[in-house]
Amino acid sequence: MIIKLKSDINASEHQHLAGKINALGYKPTYVNTQFGKYLVCIGKKEIDLRNLGFESGVEDIFRVDDAFKLVSSQWKTAKTEIDLGGGIKIGNGHFQVMVGPCSIEGEAQIESTIKHMAENGVKIMRGGVFKPRSSPYSFRGYGIDSLKMWHEHASKAGIKIITEVMQVSQIDEMLPYVDIFQVGARNSQNFNLLDELGKVDKPVMLKRGISGTIEELLQSAEYIFSNGNEKILLCERGIRSYETAYRNTMDINAIAILKDKSHLPVVADPSHGIGVRKYVDKIALASVAAGADAVIMEVHECPEKAFSDGQQTLDHQESAILIDKMKNLRALLQ
Ligand code: PEP
Ligand code: MN
Repeated sequence: MIIKLKSDINASEHQHLAGKINALGYKPTYVNTQFGKYLVCIGKKEIDLRNLGFESGVEDIFRVDDAFKLVSSQWKTAKTEIDLGGGIKIGNGHFQVMVGPCSIEGEAQIESTIKHMAENGVKIMRGGVFKPRSSPYSFRGYGIDSLKMWHEHASKAGIKIITEVMQVSQIDEMLPYVDIFQVGARNSQNFNLLDELGKVDKPVMLKRGISGTIEELLQSAEYIFSNGNEKILLCERGIRSYETAYRNTMDINAIAILKDKSHLPVVADPSHGIGVRKYVDKIALASVAAGADAVIMEVHECPEKAFSDGQQTLDHQESAILIDKMKNLRALLQ
């Protein structure tokens, strides 16, 4: 059960309400976000919601059967819209493409990506400065200084930045330069990181774990929301399966299911989702057809020379053609 509290609820009303909920056999957790105040009440008994509806300080009450609560569409029927400023929005009917390299490699690469974006009307640039790599000997990113340099170029061009945060200690130093924090697949259940990202007022794109279920992804999103941050995007990036013909199994099913079970926007990552350059366009289009609110894809001027993930990276020409096809497909679906 979720109780939406009135914004001006006072301490004694709050105390009285919590006492009543406890007496009904439910455990209330107070959640205070940038947009609202809630009591998430966990309990097993069937209760008559009318017992609580007239208490002062209560705005509304919702029964939520899902294990995840605040991110569930069972209580919030309106779709969440992420507003990045400058007229750039994701979700609730707003679609965005995010492009850029797997890793930020230097100034010339940033400039050429921004030029490609300007030519194709793309407003959000991806790129890793802290890279989770399977091998400790692989390129692990140029770190915070490269993020600052990237931010200088991006802000001049009106471009928003999405980049991965790998640990709690990086959040504060990254905060001024990031528009969307990305939580990578390997950190999808790093609950300490999720707790801390719940305390910042910046959007967080949470990727599904390498072997994570849809419910686990939603429970991880619940960590962020319940710590105070409602600005969350869910990302399907493929899961590990027995198949060896490609890198990951892009779970297109998950896109449709997440859109139904949650009010949060859903981002598709076809680059990691299939991991093979020549199929990325088909999987991107399938994701759009399944209802994705955004597509994030790896793009590099010369994928053969990319420091990481070149095998799944599109060049500028391939990217331009795909962006156009996605726009056309969106228009067809509307
Ligand atoms: C990435 O976006 O480059 C990345 C490392 O993604 P994932 O966490 O999905 O592997
Ligand atoms: Mn990558």
